[in-house]
Amino acid sequence: MMHDSPVSINHLLDTLQSSSRSGRALVKEAYNFAELAHEGQKRYSGEPYFNHVYHTALNLAEIGMGPKTVTAGLLHDVLEDANVDVDELEDAFGDEIAFLVSGVTKLGKIRYSGVKRHVESLRKLFVATSQDIRVIIIKLADRLHNMRTLKYVPEHKQERIARETLEVYAPVAERLGIGQFKRELQDLSFAYTDPETYKKVHDMAKHRLKKARHNLEKMNKKLLRLLKEEGIDYQSVHYREKGIYSLYKKLKRKDMNIDRVFDILALRIIVPKIKDCYQTLGVIHSVWKPYLGRVKDYIASPKPNGYKSLHTTIFVGNGSIAEIQIRTPRMHEEAEFGIASHAIYKDKGLRMQTYEWLNYLLPKSPFDIDDEKKLETPQWIKNLGDIQNDTVATQEFLDNLTSDFFSERIFVFTPNGDVIDLPKGSTPIDFAYMIHSEIGNHMSGAKINSKLASLDTTLRNGDIVEIVTKNSASPSSKWLNYAKTAEAKRKIRSHISAGQDN
Ligand code: MN
Repeated sequence: MMHDSPVSINHLLDTLQSSSRSGRALVKEAYNFAELAHEGQKRYSGEPYFNHVYHTALNLAEIGMGPKTVTAGLLHDVLEDANVDVDELEDAFGDEIAFLVSGVTKLGKIRYSGVKRHVESLRKLFVATSQDIRVIIIKLADRLHNMRTLKYVPEHKQERIARETLEVYAPVAERLGIGQFKRELQDLSFAYTDPETYKKVHDMAKHRLKKARHNLEKMNKKLLRLLKEEGIDYQSVHYREKGIYSLYKKLKRKDMNIDRVFDILALRIIVPKIKDCYQTLGVIHSVWKPYLGRVKDYIASPKPNGYKSLHTTIFVGNGSIAEIQIRTPRMHEEAEFGIASHAIYKDKGLRMQTYEWLNYLLPKSPFDIDDEKKLETPQWIKNLGDIQNDTVATQEFLDNLTSDFFSERIFVFTPNGDVIDLPKGSTPIDFAYMIHSEIGNHMSGAKINSKLASLDTTLRNGDIVEIVTKNSASPSSKWLNYAKTAEAKRKIRSHISAGQDN
């Protein structure tokens, strides 16, 4: 859905689901601060730059984030684009807001090279750099507005941005369970990464949707009457269209045969309580015959990302099939807003072992995400309900940010900006072998941040490493003492022994 609504502090405050006076005052102050800071700046579209930060903040308010996160959304570009420095931001809005805005700024510096094998490292870097889940959610809201306005960006930049969105941002939104962001990020990017296929799937869907809507409307009338008769007090009934990208992924698994996709349009029924969900399902099955094997109880067994609902597929007459989804308002909120729907995250940091959430957020490849059975819901998600809101003081949270992850891994860059992920203590030798064994085997020297460095130098986070090679160069046994990774050691040994054999 496009949000072309004009900027308005009142609309933003109305959307904010918080009545705290201090929270609303903070948002108002940030609104004025950002408007002034970005004064005179324009977007590619010609609109004032402030519109972008306003819409970023509005996206956050819409998924239920609290005043501090919305405030940081308004301010997210002032460090990078408006000559405001961190101290100034800290004086005006305090440590926590300054921390969030710096986090978003840092994340913005990570470049995506499009090299497939680095996508996973990039996602790791993305998550590890942000340190607080709110930073990621702000970055997703920022990217969502950038994608909505991508058509104004110079053409040669569009594809890279769209691909990065599809491969890094959308999977992270999916892992966080923010369905509303995920769907839109995927569909907006897909239209740029593969315009032909996008159009093909879009046209297939359009034709299908018309028919599906017609069928559902007919059964819906009868269903609502039955629910009333049974005394089920449904709160809302609406249609859910499947996203184009999600439909495309499903079609690929069904030989591109749209007749095998039953949930292109679903009827979604929201009822007050869990027992109403089962009662509604009973009413439906007493009138319409369920399609065998397609009744799914995600209330009793939620999906790994926490998704809960009852799904059924029924025959609605003249050979047509329809999907119905039944859930409570709470389940609906969780499905659309994910982690953002848990009160604790709305305005507090998330205290947990970085490893746990890295493992949760980062699938091995973008394709693993389809295979939900492979995913284990980590303990910290299961424990959400147990965490006491106020025992997690912000300062304590910030103190705990010295993450395990950073104590064990480092991220360095190739001169092209590709991210290489190595264990702590790694040297240029590990880096060279990680790139390619031939580069390791012919390494004669290394430059770190453009300066010549010895091969036993310990690499640090963010270093840019360039390997100098010579045809005549070859590994010496000394290198075994400098290498940290088993991979490099193995390759050095095998090169040395191969040399001796000759
Ligand atoms: Mn931005």
